[in-house]
Amino acid sequence: PFPRRRGLPEKRTIRDVKKVVAVSSAKGGVGKSTVAVNLALAFARRGIKTGILDTDIFGPSIPTLLNLSGEPRLDENNCLVPLTNYGLKSMSMGYLLPQTQSDSATGEVPMDTTPISWRGLMVTKALHQLLHSVSWGPLDVLVLDLPPGTGDVQLTINQEVIIDGAVIVTTPQDIALRDAVRGFGMFQRMDVPVLGMVRNMAYFACPNCGHQTQIFSHGDGHHSHGENRGVVAECKRLGVDFLGDIPLDAKVCEDADRGMPTMVSEESVERSARRQAFLDVA
Ligand code: ADP
Repeated sequence: PFPRRRGLPEKRTIRDVKKVVAVSSAKGGVGKSTVAVNLALAFARRGIKTGILDTDIFGPSIPTLLNLSGEPRLDENNCLVPLTNYGLKSMSMGYLLPQTQSDSATGEVPMDTTPISWRGLMVTKALHQLLHSVSWGPLDVLVLDLPPGTGDVQLTINQEVIIDGAVIVTTPQDIALRDAVRGFGMFQRMDVPVLGMVRNMAYFACPNCGHQTQIFSHGDGHHSHGENRGVVAECKRLGVDFLGDIPLDAKVCEDADRGMPTMVSEESVERSARRQAFLDVA
């Protein structure tokens, strides 16, 4: 519905990729990357050829989550060859800047000494390479792990490639949810269909007795009023799907930290509610 502004490059599809699904959050630390990587692994488990592209230039976390490092080689077309683990192809700024790996504790890319005027250029160039010069081979789905927020990088990505759908990750907290609604607005303006919202850290499941405790106020219950609307109610209001709850679970965090996401962590839990939660969302 929006006429393309003159001077902007034509949006492109990503070569060899059928569908691009962006996972986003308006705020950092809500578990966007954790959800993105587990979602991608859940797709892969269902036999869908899947890749994940970490577009977080300043805080790439996919290398840690997939326990991958090292410089990708270039193929005969000068395209980056993705690194693979657990049957999932991946590409990340973290692979292109090997020195950041040793600094994985903070996830910071040490660009602070770079003149401000260069940064924009470098980011644009790096993004361009990540979006257009990776040889994914045939993929059914490429999951884009977007950087948090609703800034320039998100806009640039949307201007360069066609995003088939967006998944918004939020927590039950009021502030995170309000940000998520802003994120919804961004995708609407960018003309990207929102596939739905995922509520991460929805409840705490006691490992001993299985009792579920709601740590954050959900606002969806009978106490909800005015501003404090919950995720489910907000989804209804916006007309987007509520995709499901992921529990707040120390194991999810532990799995992520050791580079073996919950979807593929070896421990076979009798009734792995957490793994099922990711499969349900997928
Ligand atoms: P973001 O990408 O939004 O910044 P991350 O995926 O890096 O967030 O997650 C932030 C931290 O929270 C990480 O330490 C991660 O392991 C942890 N985490 C994410 N989701 C959960 C969850 N459902 N239960 C427990 N810890 C989680």
